[in-house]
Amino acid sequence: MATFGNLSDRLAETFKNLRTKGKLSAADVDGTVREIRRALLDADVALEVVKDFTGKVRERALGDEVSKALNPAQQVVKIVNEELVEILGGQQRRLEFAKKPPTIIMLAGLQGAGKTTLAGKLAKWLVKDGHTPILVAADLQRPNAVTQLEVVGAQAGVPVYAPEPGNGIGNPVKVARDGVKFAQQKMHDVVIVDTAGRLGVDAEMMKQAADIRKAIDPDEVLFVIDAMIGQDAVATAKAFQDGVDFTGVVLSKLDGDARGGAALSVASITGRPIMFASTGESLDDFEPFHPDRMASRILD
Ligand code: GDP
Repeated sequence: MATFGNLSDRLAETFKNLRTKGKLSAADVDGTVREIRRALLDADVALEVVKDFTGKVRERALGDEVSKALNPAQQVVKIVNEELVEILGGQQRRLEFAKKPPTIIMLAGLQGAGKTTLAGKLAKWLVKDGHTPILVAADLQRPNAVTQLEVVGAQAGVPVYAPEPGNGIGNPVKVARDGVKFAQQKMHDVVIVDTAGRLGVDAEMMKQAADIRKAIDPDEVLFVIDAMIGQDAVATAKAFQDGVDFTGVVLSKLDGDARGGAALSVASITGRPIMFASTGESLDDFEPFHPDRMASRILD
C-alpha cells in the first residue's frame, strides 16, 4: 500500500536506532517519541491525534513494561503497534445486518470521494457472500451520477433503482424512499443508497443527506473519505459526523500516494470505526478494514 510508505520508512528508521540500545533511558524514550511525533505530523495525521498517541506511547514506554522487558526496544515497538491499532479503531467492526431485511446502507461523502464506485464494490462483495443487493441512485446532483451507478451496477451484476423521468427527478429524498420500498417489494436483502456530494462541505448537501437519512432510517451510514485529502480529512469528517451522523467510515484511494494522515486520524477524531478500505478503481479493489493488519503494515 503506497499510502503509508514514507511513514513506514520513518518509523522503521526510528526503531532501528532504538534497537542498538540495551536498557532505555528516559532520554532515549523521549527522543524516540519525538521522532514518532514528527513522522506522524509529516504524514498529515491530525495534531490532536498525534498528541494523544504520543502521550500514551511515552507514558507506557517510561513504565515497567519496558524497563522490565528482556528486550526494551522490541517492547516499545509492541506498544506503538498496540496504540496504532487503538487509533485505527481497535477491533474490526463488521456490517450490521437488519434483523428484518432489507438492510439499508446509505453512502455519504464529498463529490469524488468514491461513493459511487464503492456502491459497486460493496454490492459485488455482498453478492459473493450470498446477499441480493440493489443500488439506489439518489445522487441527482451530478448529471452523470445515475448513469455511472447503472454502469457499476451492471459490472457488479446487481440491479439499480433509478428515478423514472417525471417521477422524482430532482427529489433525492423521494427517490431514496421509493428505492427502499421497491427493494422491499422485490425481496432484496440489502439496499445501498448512493447520495450526492459536493466538492466541499456545503450546508445544502448536508441537509439533503440528513433528510435522506431521516426518510429511510438506514441500518448503516457509511462515510466515504478519500485518503488523499490530507489535513482536510478532520474538518470534513467532523462536518459529516455533525450533519448526518454516520455509523462507519470507508477509506478510499488507499492505493494512492497520499501520506496516510486521513486514515490515521478519522477513526479517533470521530469515534466511528473504519469498516472498509478501497484500494483502486476496479470493483475488486476493496476489503474489510482490519485495524491490526493495517498497524502491522505500517510497522512492517
Ligand atoms: P463519488 O463522487 O463520491 O461518487 O466518487 P466516484 O465513485 O465517482 O469516484 C471518483 C473517482 O475516483 C473515479 O474516477 C473513481 O474511479 C476513482 N476512485 C474511486 N475509488 C478509488 C480507489 O479506491 N482508488 C483509486 N485510485 N481511485 C478510486
